[in-house]
Parts: sequence; structure tokens; C-alpha cells
Amino acid sequence: MQTYSRLKASISAAYQRRYYARRWERDLPEVLAMVDRGQFDRLPIIRKKDLSANWDDLVEYGDFVDVVSSSGTTGRPVELPVHRQQEQVWVDCVARVLSELGAGPGGKLLQLLSNNDMFSLGPLVWLASKKIGVGPFRCSAQRLQRIADVMNYHRPQFVVGNPMVMLNIADELGADFPPLERRPKYAYFAACAAFDAENALTPMAQRAKDVWGFEEVLNEYGCSELGSIGHECRAHNGFHINDDAVHVELVDPLTGRPSAPGKSGEVVVTALSLPRGFIAVRYGTGDIAAWLDTAPCACGRRSPRLGTIIGRIDHQLKVLGQTVYPDLIFNVVDQLTEIVDSVLVKYRDALQAEQVELWFCSSGRAEQAASTATALLQRHLAVSPPLRSVPLDIIRRVKQDRMARSNGVKLPRYVDLDNVRTYLDGVTS
Ligand SMILES: [Zn+2]
Repeated sequence: MQTYSRLKASISAAYQRRYYARRWERDLPEVLAMVDRGQFDRLPIIRKKDLSANWDDLVEYGDFVDVVSSSGTTGRPVELPVHRQQEQVWVDCVARVLSELGAGPGGKLLQLLSNNDMFSLGPLVWLASKKIGVGPFRCSAQRLQRIADVMNYHRPQFVVGNPMVMLNIADELGADFPPLERRPKYAYFAACAAFDAENALTPMAQRAKDVWGFEEVLNEYGCSELGSIGHECRAHNGFHINDDAVHVELVDPLTGRPSAPGKSGEVVVTALSLPRGFIAVRYGTGDIAAWLDTAPCACGRRSPRLGTIIGRIDHQLKVLGQTVYPDLIFNVVDQLTEIVDSVLVKYRDALQAEQVELWFCSSGRAEQAASTATALLQRHLAVSPPLRSVPLDIIRRVKQDRMARSNGVKLPRYVDLDNVRTYLDGVTS
């Protein structure tokens, strides 16, 4: 099989890095024979903490031309060198999303993704726009007047950004939000899951699409260690995996074995293109995807498709013994117009017991909104976390405090609080 020979090429290259040889506890021919026997998925999954702890035995600087940072681990920060040719592959994968939207020479692109040092997709989109010839306007998402000016005076047809950030922009510009004919028609939704397990837009993404008046939106998925993993086509059948660059498996977090067909699991990725600063072989991303499907798509592509990302392994919540992912909760709650804003918080109470609560702010009576939301959550997810009505400024403060500690791209909606009292002092309900 084609995939087998490419897997074997990656494994052979990875074996030159001492960490893999040690971790696999087999000689190379034996590992390659496992692949031939269809036992590739018996190799151990490696994780970000392994990268941090075994840097010199895993990473090669080579002819690197960029460094990608990824947050969320203790110990040595993971700042991976991206080799020159590796960057070209990553740029190609991102360019596919722009091409699928119809972007090309002569087009104009409003680029709302951050180019800061903790976010790798921003610079990749910038390079991809040069590759296909669409002209980018780089706008910081905080500079509202400049964004309005770019739309009013240049009328870009395309925009790339996070839908939640786009909604905020429209909201905060208010009367200054440019009229429909000056807004982009086609959007690349990045750094979030914009559709659900049935491939329908999430309420948040739908709202962004309606408020901006987009004709078409496409969602893309990737991570800083691996580049872009896949993107939607116009048939909206999940993420088409970039199967020339990566091999993707779904693994059941409970058993460590491949997920059953149609079932959710952790996205485990092996790099297929070489060279790479970090050669991922069965790298556990921590993202949980809804499903993996190899059936051909209506668009004609035959690449496997990945269902939406429903959560993170480390964000699995136990509510009454049931596993629940925050995004699934928001997909339900965001349908309710009476809930103005919400945030899911986890904290330890006075007895050190872990509590999970949905803090919300409602436009009408809080008890009414809470019971409607609870009933809807029970119906869709079988369980509901306790709800707590709080003033809107507390929700904003929780998010902003958290945002200040992250890469400044995703607006956090699930927050682990170690100082819950500082938010709740003075709040009665
Ligand atoms: Zn397709």
C-alpha cells in the first residue's frame, strides 16, 4: 500500500533520532515489519511532554527557517524548528483552503489572525496568500478602526480569522461596521471548530456567517507541531485530511486502541512529508474528533475525512459520571437567544472537590433562562452542569484574564479557575 511505504519512510527517518529507537525497544527492521503486518498502531503514542523531556534526541534544527511555539506543557517549552522544505509543505496545505474558497491572483484578503510569536497559522496564511497571489491586508483583530477602513476602502472579498473574534469585531464596531456590500463574501474560519458532528455550522459560526453575510465559509484544522491537518471542501463533509503530508488515526482514549468506525477518538498523527525538525510518529494531539470516514466525498476527493473536533482530552469533564466536552455544551447553550454570554468554569471548592459550573448572563429572568438551558442540555447531552447567573462583566473578566495568559487568538470559554472567590465575591445567585 502507498500509505505503508510512506509510513515506513517516515519511521526510518524517525529511527535516526535516538528517542524513537529507545522508546520502540525494537530494531528498525522489526518496526518496519510491524507496519507490513498492519500493526503500526501498536507503536506507542508520543506526546508533547515527551518532546519537552527528550529534546536533543528528537529534534533537529537542520536548515530551519521558522520556529513554532506551542503552549500547554511544563518543563522545557516546545519551540519546534521548521525546516525549509517542511514550511513549503505547510504553506501548500494552508493555500488549499484559500484556493477552495476561490481566492487567486487579483483577490484581496482581510487577514485577522495574529502574527504573534505564539501562533503559527497567522504567518502560514500570510505565506500561502503570497503563494497563490491573493493580496493580504494584515490586521490585528484589536484594531477595529483599521479593520473597518480596510473593508470600506479596499473591499476584500476574503477574510480569515476566528468566527468568535469576527463576531466581536462586528459587535464592537456597532454602527461603524461596514455595510454588506463592503464586507468579504468568503471566510476561512480558523483556530476553532466551526461545525458539529453532523457537519452543520455551530451556532457561533452560524451567527458569524449571518452577521457578516458570508456566502461561503470553510473551516480548517491543524496544530502548531504538525501544520495544517485538513480542511473542509464546499460539500461540507468534515475535514479532508492532507494525506500527502500526514497520516491520521483516531484512538479511543480509554483503551488506547483504534476507535470503532464512526466513533470519536483522539487525533493521532504521523508525519508523511520529510524533512522535518520534529518527525511525528503517532503523535497524540490531545484533540478529540467526532469520527473518521474513508468514503469518497461528493467533491470527488478520495482523501479520508475527519469529523469535527469535539473537545480536548484534558478538557473532558465528568458531570454525574458522564464524559462531556465543553464545546458540546456551548453548541447547545448558544442556541438560546436569552443567554447573552456564558463561560464554563472548573474550580476546587473549600473541600478541594472539583466543581464544574456554567456561568451565564441572561437578557430576561435568570431562573427562566437557567431552566430552559438545563432542559435543553439534558435532552441533547443527557446531563447538565450546574448553572450560575452572573453579571456580564464577570464573564468578560474571566475570559480576558485567561486570554492574557494564552496566545491571544482563541477567546477562552472553558477556564480552570484557581481564584474563584475573586470573581464571585459580592455575587449572590
Ligand atoms: Zn469533499
